[in-house]
Amino acid sequence: MSEKNNPNKFDIDTRLVHGKSVSEAWNFNNHLIPPMTSNTTYRLESVERGAQGFQNFAEPKEGIPIWVYDRLDEPSNLMLEEQIAYLENADGAVTFSSGMSAISACVLASTKSSDLIVSDPTLYGCTFSFFTNHLPKFGINTQWQDLSSLSFLDNPPENLRIIYLESVANPNLKIAPLKKLCGKVKKINLDRPEDKKILVVVDNTFATPLSCNPLSLGADMCVHSLTKNIEGFGTELGGVVASKKEWILPLRMIRKDFGGVLNSRSSWQILNHGIPTLKLRFEKQQESAKKIADYLALHAETEIVHYPNLKDFKYREQALDNLKTNSNGDLQSGYMIAFTLKGDEDRTKKFVNLIAKDSYSITLAVSLGLTKTLIEVPRLMTHSSYGDEDVKTADIPNKLIRLSIGIESSEDIINDLSVAFEAL
Ligand SMILES: *Cc1c(COP(=O)(O)O)cnc(C)c1O
Repeated sequence: MSEKNNPNKFDIDTRLVHGKSVSEAWNFNNHLIPPMTSNTTYRLESVERGAQGFQNFAEPKEGIPIWVYDRLDEPSNLMLEEQIAYLENADGAVTFSSGMSAISACVLASTKSSDLIVSDPTLYGCTFSFFTNHLPKFGINTQWQDLSSLSFLDNPPENLRIIYLESVANPNLKIAPLKKLCGKVKKINLDRPEDKKILVVVDNTFATPLSCNPLSLGADMCVHSLTKNIEGFGTELGGVVASKKEWILPLRMIRKDFGGVLNSRSSWQILNHGIPTLKLRFEKQQESAKKIADYLALHAETEIVHYPNLKDFKYREQALDNLKTNSNGDLQSGYMIAFTLKGDEDRTKKFVNLIAKDSYSITLAVSLGLTKTLIEVPRLMTHSSYGDEDVKTADIPNKLIRLSIGIESSEDIINDLSVAFEAL
């Protein structure tokens, strides 16, 4: 058998560069890089083939898909989905136009009116807004629950359908005991009928598949904003859900009928630029993040520094339980750091404004996981949809600063930080 047909025996570094090599979506015989596809509709040789295309979409079979219309299925998206499913140990994946489109699809595909979501309150700001401002209109309510404790599962409500959390939460890197939670849910589900089973849905954007694989820990669906580290260069928006087999078709149906399709030119970029460089970028970012977290933790001006690889990290035990280690046994702590400064909120603003004004290697901007190092103040920016009471339960103090480490030299980043500290 040709080695080309057996990608599973290759190391992740190789696999991310070459993909499946022979994909049902495209043959690679003639292209080093798969062609950039730009098509809305496809030529069908007969009415029968058109009918078959719709039939196959609803009842997927193995083999080359019948391409009908881009909102149903598309070659670049399909190849990207194969790579994400591989990275997440998933049966499959479905791409969406953005991370929020993927998150809303998970909920829409699996809930009905009067179902309950239990969610940790520490979430990406727009997810919090989706749960509080939109879902209640459809009779789907959210109970906020600090998932550090699992005692709420001793007596779970009958209408509990989704437990929602972020594997490493935005913005303060909170880590819930995901593995233990999935173990408990699995036992509870033994006594619940199919349509009342509790699903665990995890946003794995901060962690990336290189640091955490929620499905391997027992989750049902795993979401990514592809816009962040998987794309990595700050040029494309995208989202994806990687899941167990039974959710693939419902998710594809939601995409077809709600229309949140990933633009094929964006998926082509993510497939050919983001994915092949993901590990390289992640390792460089992580190496720098460790040094920068150590620097901040020792600095006289800082109060709290959240980073999984710090010994006194608040969720250290959960990090060791849920995050991956590399072949040297190093915890994959990632590239995100959150910290607070001593003093009041104005001091924080002054510090971040000094960086915005004078720093070369650090940029004041939202988003994360990019080649460039970014800084922001979540409460005033990405998490401004939270009310004053909500931020207390979510532990997002007004003066929390979030740093996403890029691939610049760590010495330069530390130097830019120290210049701002000195000017405070
Ligand atoms: C950015 C982000 C999202 C939303 O992704 P978009 O691609 O911007 O829609 C969701 N979850 C987390 C954790 C994020 O950081």
